[in-house]
Amino acid sequence: MGREHHARHPRTRARLSAAAGSALLALLLLALAAVPAGAVPAGAVPAGAVPAGAVPAGAAGHVSPRSGGFHDDAARAVRAYEQARERVDRLREAEALPTRIHDADRRRKTLRSGLWDRLRAGAREAGDPVAVDPSGRQGHCPFGEHSRRPESRAHSWTAPAHRYWLSAGYAARGSHWAHRHTGQDFAVDHGTPVYAVGSGVVRITTCGDGFGNQVLVRHRDGYFTQYAHLSRIDVRRGQRVSAGQRIGLSGASGNVTGPHLHFEVRITPYAGSAVPPLPWLRRKEVRVSDTP
Ligand SMILES: [Zn+2]
Repeated sequence: MGREHHARHPRTRARLSAAAGSALLALLLLALAAVPAGAVPAGAVPAGAVPAGAVPAGAAGHVSPRSGGFHDDAARAVRAYEQARERVDRLREAEALPTRIHDADRRRKTLRSGLWDRLRAGAREAGDPVAVDPSGRQGHCPFGEHSRRPESRAHSWTAPAHRYWLSAGYAARGSHWAHRHTGQDFAVDHGTPVYAVGSGVVRITTCGDGFGNQVLVRHRDGYFTQYAHLSRIDVRRGQRVSAGQRIGLSGASGNVTGPHLHFEVRITPYAGSAVPPLPWLRRKEVRVSDTP
């Protein structure tokens, strides 16, 4: 589909033809309506049809009346998880009884695994490379040399780029997203180094869908950070990374109108489990604002 994922600048986005997008969507809906439900193989929907940066339509069984409900359910589950996590944090801070903390933490984990299972099933159905090719080997991703771990303090966190300005924010609405924008965009030049915001393990390196070349890192607190639209990937699946370690170079791969970094924080590796990224970074004492 011609729907754009991310624009480098609101002015660029404003130029996009909403009418053309609507016409394409109508065509897709017509095409799907002509086929009996369940008859569309997962691979039949081109990767480009999934507007990355939002819950992929395929995660809800392609574009169907169910997609809104699926998206709403996932959003509710994400909020419930965040509330459960806040409760655990509060109990720990108040030095509550260990059994109360344990029970609250178990509830948090149960919420996450339920969401994880549902999103993984949706991602597989949609042919999302995160689910079907997590190492990116089939997609022939543009891997660079392995990056080295920097000399850094053990528990520090950092911004994912050094010089940037903030473009589309979390939950922004736009004609090019199926629902709302699920990450924070950092406007950077093509080829700008992109850094892991904290230490963790590389769990996903994929390419070829709307997110382009992307890396997902799992951190010790259980959250995943996603770095999308890269021009080069300098880490491999399973590699341990430190805060500030270069994981690749920015680019304009996937559905974009210009080079930028799409940064996302998720509860699971799958689209649909994103949380607001800037408050999450602030909890790690990382403040991001436009650099001059
Ligand atoms: Zn984005």
